[in-house]
Amino acid sequence: MTTYNFAAGPAVMPKPVIDQIQAELPSFQGSGMSIMEISHRSALFDQVISDAEADLRELMGIPANYRVLFFQGGGTLQFTAAPLNLATKHHHIGLLDSGHWASRAADEARRVGTKVDILGTAADNHFTALPTLDQPVDQALDYVHLTTNNTIEGTAYTMLPQTGHVPLVADMSSNFLGQQYQVTDFGMIFAGAQKNLGPAGLTIVIVRDDLIGQAQNLPSMLDYQLFADKRSMFNTPPVFAIYAAGLVLKWLKAQGGLAAMEQRNRDKAALLYDFLDQSKLFTSHVKPADRSLMNMPFVTGKPALDAQVIAGATDRGLLNLKGHRLVGGMRASLYNAMPKAGVQALVDYLADFEATHAK
Ligand code: PLP
Repeated sequence: MTTYNFAAGPAVMPKPVIDQIQAELPSFQGSGMSIMEISHRSALFDQVISDAEADLRELMGIPANYRVLFFQGGGTLQFTAAPLNLATKHHHIGLLDSGHWASRAADEARRVGTKVDILGTAADNHFTALPTLDQPVDQALDYVHLTTNNTIEGTAYTMLPQTGHVPLVADMSSNFLGQQYQVTDFGMIFAGAQKNLGPAGLTIVIVRDDLIGQAQNLPSMLDYQLFADKRSMFNTPPVFAIYAAGLVLKWLKAQGGLAAMEQRNRDKAALLYDFLDQSKLFTSHVKPADRSLMNMPFVTGKPALDAQVIAGATDRGLLNLKGHRLVGGMRASLYNAMPKAGVQALVDYLADFEATHAK
């Protein structure tokens, strides 16, 4: 049976990348050692991390005045690292409250003594639309945090809010490399790898170099300037995860880069949203203009029926469709490595289910 993995993360990886990892695992580039065994100080690994950075720069058009850092600790550690490194003048940031991960970021910033102003919230509409700025941004803020794609709620920014001279810091964890953004619109971007890039355990930070190096006495493992100076090899980096991410970046280039990938993702998303919008059984509550290309929550409105949808899907090889516990129902995540055939299989199944379970 063909299976399709609709998980929100860790998520589907490109099949050719899995095949290459499998083929190369016993002996990396004829070294007689697996990639997991080679030294991070070896010339072999130096090439891996240099290529990964160069390919990421090429794919995203990252200018020379931005540093690319390879961190551990997931997106969550960056909720702490970003304020420690960048909120150094006023210890005061703004944040757009677009859902669960945005509020987690606010909590972590406050834990390290940063004042957090909520500049707009989508709580009133249960996060089914994006928040907008309530008023012009106070230019004395150190930065404004936003979540470009809200993995649980299924919303995503295409147009960015205007923040004047205050830099935007983006949690791009769930639409990194799946949708194009202009790097220069941000002071910093971060993303955990485990959706569109590679194995969990790797987190990418892209940061404008004039914003770093201001913080005093940071723990070394949280210090962007130190990581920049040491080319992300202050300590042992997650060698396997960086290697696998490097293969995904090469796969992305071979697919035509991010413009082609975004177009493919738009086509896949339209297939599912068009089905949901005409369905008499299934509903997406998310405002059409704010809908994510990556994560699509939807419901029947009856939890017992949702459970049947998910069980029947699993029987057909359509895996991990259970919605996040905060919103219930179903959620389909259509990351870069999900083929259109997987979305078609899902839509066909939902249509069959609807035909046999009229509302
Ligand atoms: N930010 C967003 C948008 C996410 O979707 C997630 C996880 O799903 C996180 C942050 C937390 O990431 P991690 O588990 O890598 O710490």
